[in-house]
Parts: sequence; structure tokens; C-alpha cells
Amino acid sequence: IREITVDAASLEQDEEIIQAVKALPDIKILEVYDRTFNLHRSGKLSVNSKIPLKSQSDLAMAYTPGVGRICTAIAQDPEKIYSLTIKQNTVAIVTDGSAVLGLGNLGPGGALPVMEGKAMLFKEFAGIDAFPICLATQDPDEIVNTVKNIAPVFGGVNLEDIAAPRCFEIERRLRQELDIPVFHDDQHGTAIVSLAALINSLKLVKKSLSEVRIVINGAGAAGIAIARLLKKAGAESIWMCDSKGILSQSRTDLNEEKREFAVKAQGSLAGALQGADIFLGVSVPGVLTPEMVKSMAKDPIVFAMANPIPEIQPEYIVSDAAVIATGRSDYPNQINNVLAFPGVFRGALDCRATTITTTMYLEAAYAIASLVSPTELNAEHVIPSVFDKRVATAVASAVQQAARLEGVARC
Ligand code: NAP
Ligand code: MG
Repeated sequence: IREITVDAASLEQDEEIIQAVKALPDIKILEVYDRTFNLHRSGKLSVNSKIPLKSQSDLAMAYTPGVGRICTAIAQDPEKIYSLTIKQNTVAIVTDGSAVLGLGNLGPGGALPVMEGKAMLFKEFAGIDAFPICLATQDPDEIVNTVKNIAPVFGGVNLEDIAAPRCFEIERRLRQELDIPVFHDDQHGTAIVSLAALINSLKLVKKSLSEVRIVINGAGAAGIAIARLLKKAGAESIWMCDSKGILSQSRTDLNEEKREFAVKAQGSLAGALQGADIFLGVSVPGVLTPEMVKSMAKDPIVFAMANPIPEIQPEYIVSDAAVIATGRSDYPNQINNVLAFPGVFRGALDCRATTITTTMYLEAAYAIASLVSPTELNAEHVIPSVFDKRVATAVASAVQQAARLEGVARC
């Protein structure tokens, strides 16, 4: 009997390799080691205190009786909560587990590893203490009430992986009721980064946002938010498609958000794409064909962002599209929300913003786009790398400046 270690990156790979090994003569599998499971063995986060607790005096200041004076000061002047507590640097990552990654409705427990990972990204990219909050309810009223009730601890709320169209109502109501920024990352993070990449792609093909015809495939959380931000940025011609085709005024099955983008045209994605300049996919794998790309206007821009499998494999259209982007790290031009949300919250927290505005999103997108210099800009580099350390700082500063101009900064 020979001993081997199987070290695979995914469950499917594990299973494939295990079956192949089992089929070999004289081999018995003793143990399967999965490094991803191993990494998660005790969770990915812990709470650390920032000050020493070594003496009686430390204790008397950090906790009772000393802390009592701090409590009274905040009770007398509520704004002091920002300078005297963790609120200044703490974000709640709130999910109901209803749309976890591309995996669907896994519930709050199934969502927790993702939210822990998100908290790691907040810390790594922007020094923010973010806390996973996975709610055991998918009822919008209960979600809104719970978030309202826990909000005093947090300087901002990042809504995460909440299914459309429920996510729109929850975000809208929380924005109305809370005096801290509420940001649904699957909507606005995606929209900011897509706009940044699009601005740079348009420079390459020498077209302007106001003159191009854009087709957005997918009218869920990401698609609707992208459409809204593009419109705000100056796009004038946007056609959206969902699983039933073009969001047409003749359709009677459209929800409120889809109706906002209903157009006269009707038909399928293939029809919508004829002569279009831009395809933005936030839908499902494999729905875009090379023929559809060939039917687009000269120098088409194709962002196939369905994760993990894009609307089309980039290799099928390399010679037809002027710029191709995906959500993946193994192709050029990765549209990844991590370029946006750490800096957005860093900027909002630093000026103790009372809310977050569309202008702040726009400025974040312009800041990301501007980090690709004219000499660096090419079809395989329209967006900075996710590891570009300048991004979060540039986004934070742009967001903070916009917050001040908009009058939503507390300091
Ligand atoms: P979502 O809220 O569930 O929306 C999905 C949308 O896709 C729905 O409007 C759905 O149509 C539509 N759709 C389903 N099948 C379709 C088809 N055959 N043709 C056209 N549209 C179809 O999901 P989401 O959060 O917006 O995310 C959508 C996709 O984008 C996911 O794959 C996600 O991973 C990806 N994404 C990528 C990034 C990134 O790269 N950074 C960021 C965000 C999202 P109905 O409304 O008719 O059901
Ligand atoms: Mg998400």
C-alpha cells in the first residue's frame, strides 16, 4: 500500500481525483486533506482589544468605574459615540443568506463563511473592523427592524447577498431610517467597478457614454444598480434583458425596478445586441454567443460578469471584441467589488457620513478609473488590479470629498 496526499482546490476536483485514485490497483486512500476546509477550521476572525489590561488601574479605566464617565458623556452628547467607541471604524455586514455568492438561498449559517471572508477584506484593504451579522429571517420588515435596532454600534451597514427584488426595498427603507451609510455591495459595488472599467474601455474605442447603446443582461441586484449608475454618469441608451428577454414596455410582468428601464423595443437578447456598442452581463453562464457579439457595432465592449462562469468564455470572442472583462481572476480585466467597497466605507467612516449618495458612487468610479494611466491603458488593462494598494486610498479620498460637497459629512 502506497500513501498519497490529495490536495485539491475544489470539491469537484476532490471527487474526480479520489475516484481516479480509487480505480488504481494496490492503492488505498487513508486520508483526504482539503486545505480550504483546514483553513476554516476555527473560523477566520477574532476580536482583539486595542489597549493593555495589565494593572488594576488599566482595568478601572477600560471598565468600571472609569468607563461610566464615558457612558455618561455619550448619553449627554450622542455625537461623542464616534470619538469614544468602536462605532467610528465598525461596519455591520448584514445578510439573510438568501443569495449567497452564486450558490442561492443557503440561509444564515451557510452565509457566515462568506461574511467572515468579507470582513477580512474590509480589514485587509481598508483597516475597517467589520462584523458578520447573519439574520435568521428573510422577512423584509424583520430585517429592517433588526438592523435599525443594532445600528447604534456601527458607523455603516454593508448589506450582502440579499436576493432581488427584496434587496431594493430593504436598502431603501434602511437608508430612510438610519443616519449612517447603508450600502448593498452586490448592487453598488458592482456598479461602481463596472462603470470604472467602462469609462476606460470607452477611451480605448474612442466612444462616449452618452452616444453608445448599452445592453445589460440580467435585471437583478447588479443589473439594476449598474443601469441606474450608468444613467447618472451620462448614459442615454440602455436596454436591459432578464430571463424573458428585453424589458419592454409591452410586458406586464415587470417589477417596479425593471419598469424603470422598460423600453419600446421588445424581443430577445440576440435582437437587443444587434448594432449595440456594449454588452454588460450580470446574469447566468453561457447565454452570449460569438454570433451575437459579431452582430454588435464596431469595436464592441463585452463585460461577461456572471460568476464563476461568465456569459461567454473570453477565448471565443478575442478577435471580435475590442475589450473583454469578466469577474474572474484568471482572465485580464477582473471586475471585482473589492476595488470599491473598502474605499467607499473608509471614506464614509472617515467623515462620519450620515448617508451615502450616488455622487459618492460616481466619484468612487472615477477614482478607480483614473488609476489606470494613459500609458498603461490597453484592452487587457482597463481596471486596476485588486491588489493595487492605491485603490482603497484613492476611492476613500474621492468618497470623502464628495460627502463633504453633498453635505452628508459629520466632520
Ligand atoms: P440576481 O439578483 O439573482 O439577478 C440575476 C438576473 O439574471 C435576473 O434578472 C434574472 O432574470 C437574470 N437572468 C437569469 N437567467 C437569464 C437569462 N438566461 N438571460 C438573461 N437574464 C437572465 O443576481 P445578481 O446579484 O444581480 O448577480 C447576477 C450575476 O452577476 C451572478 O452570476 C453574479 O455572480 C454576477 N455578479 C458578478 C459581479 C462581479 O463580477 N463583480 C458582481 C455582482 C454580480 P429574472 O429577473 O427574469 O429572473
Ligand atoms: Mg455579494
